Amino acid sequence: MDSHSTPADRPLSPFAEGLHIGNSLSREKERFAPYNPPYVGMYVCGPTVYSNVHLGNVRTFLTFDIVYRYLLHLGFKVRYVRNITDVGHLTGDTDDGEDKIGKKARLENLEPMEVVQRYTNDFHDVMRIFRILPPSIEPTATGHIVEQIGMIENIIDNGFAYEANGSVYFDVRKYAETHDYGALSGRKIDELQNQSRALDGQDEKRDPLDFALWKKADSSHLMHWPSPWSEGFPGWHLECSVMSTKYLGKSFDIHGGGMDLKFPHHECEIAQNKGAHGPESPVRYWIHGNMLTVNGRKMSKSEGNGFTPEELITGNHKLLEKGYSPMTVRFFMLQGHYAGTLDFSNPALQAAEKGLERLMTAWDLLKSLAPSDGTDGPPDVDALRTRAYAAMNDDFNTPMLIAVLYDAVKAINSVAAGHLSIDAAGIAGLQALFADFADDILGLASENDGPSNTEDRSDGLMEVLCALRAEAKTKKDWATADLIRDRLSAMGVNIKDGKDGTSWTFD
Ligand code: AMP
Ligand code: ZN
Repeated sequence: MDSHSTPADRPLSPFAEGLHIGNSLSREKERFAPYNPPYVGMYVCGPTVYSNVHLGNVRTFLTFDIVYRYLLHLGFKVRYVRNITDVGHLTGDTDDGEDKIGKKARLENLEPMEVVQRYTNDFHDVMRIFRILPPSIEPTATGHIVEQIGMIENIIDNGFAYEANGSVYFDVRKYAETHDYGALSGRKIDELQNQSRALDGQDEKRDPLDFALWKKADSSHLMHWPSPWSEGFPGWHLECSVMSTKYLGKSFDIHGGGMDLKFPHHECEIAQNKGAHGPESPVRYWIHGNMLTVNGRKMSKSEGNGFTPEELITGNHKLLEKGYSPMTVRFFMLQGHYAGTLDFSNPALQAAEKGLERLMTAWDLLKSLAPSDGTDGPPDVDALRTRAYAAMNDDFNTPMLIAVLYDAVKAINSVAAGHLSIDAAGIAGLQALFADFADDILGLASENDGPSNTEDRSDGLMEVLCALRAEAKTKKDWATADLIRDRLSAMGVNIKDGKDGTSWTFD
């Protein structure tokens, strides 16, 4: 995959000034002003690695891939932290139930860390096939138990948490006396109180709204660590407070995640951070990606409507009429703005397939376009570029950007048909527009450029090796020629010299 670190000497683009972000905390589109430009700190809640990711998860990570790519493109130096949740996320997303990973380990007779590794690998594979860039740091919850215990101690010292029977709970009522609990999600504490039911472990809590920072492990619990309070494990919300502030500082620029994490996960994160570090808001911009739905219902594992990327590609799922390529799905998702829901359907996917093909065909045409005279004047490439930035600066408006690219497609096709004139500068301008916005920012690639080109690459490598061997043979350097053949053969690559040159087969 292409490397996307910003070149150290790339200056901040003048367009960076115009970036506006829809901030879920203020519910307004705000101009983006990081704490310490050109540096940007961004934290995104990563997956809970107890099962294969489904396409809904992919949508959320794609949303933040676009944010990351665009910030890099503008010249920001981004530290992007996306965690792996490998402990503490309980079934039901509350303070009771079994640990999701522990449960899977028990059912499949595996070590919890085997479960974690298996699904972390799967997650990475999926990210790669969708061209979602890796973050700068990918910390795990189990790798930060010491820091989590430290943060709990801070919160207790500040009077916002209490111990009960070896578990520690955040005291929401106490916190709400001096802080605005519910500011992010818009929930009112009294309404929440009315909705909450008696739950397991409730007796230990002073109030049903309180949430666990540390839970004492019962004998069936597979993952546990020593702490000042008990042999136990951290609460789910805590890890993100700890890992974001450890790597990005107590105040940082962007925090993201799916809309479904606003409450309780992110609301609790804010409370923990303020409870530990003081009233300053740790995060300047909260960004929430909206859900991928199927027939209007959130795609999720438990609904049974969450197909995996593999099912999507093969078409092997009852909801799929056929298989779709990862780039088609990426394009389909980018045709909707991240803040709106997006409903999965076969007709929409098939339309996206056609739309992407139109874009890719024009892009290919553009690569070999020559200056020419047409009946009409040249396309206004500068205006297209300005509109492309305006789209992205308007809260990462990818559908608007795609509309601009389609206008460029129209221009390319008109040039090719001899209607529009174009000079070398115009062609270079259009090529740069596609390189920047279609490739670098939207991350679209011709299917042949994706990971499947590993095959093309290995064929290319074989051609190089065979050419070197042929060269060695003409120089009568039999030792080198044999060395190449024998080393390849040891790797299971068999080469055969024929009258039309050398061919090879893989074992
Ligand atoms: P999880 O592994 O369940 O913690 O989820 C990982 C990420 O995927 C979270 O940011 C969720 O908000 C997000 N997510 C889960 N379901 C969907 C969905 N149907 N559409 C979009 N994002 C989702
Ligand atoms: Zn989180």
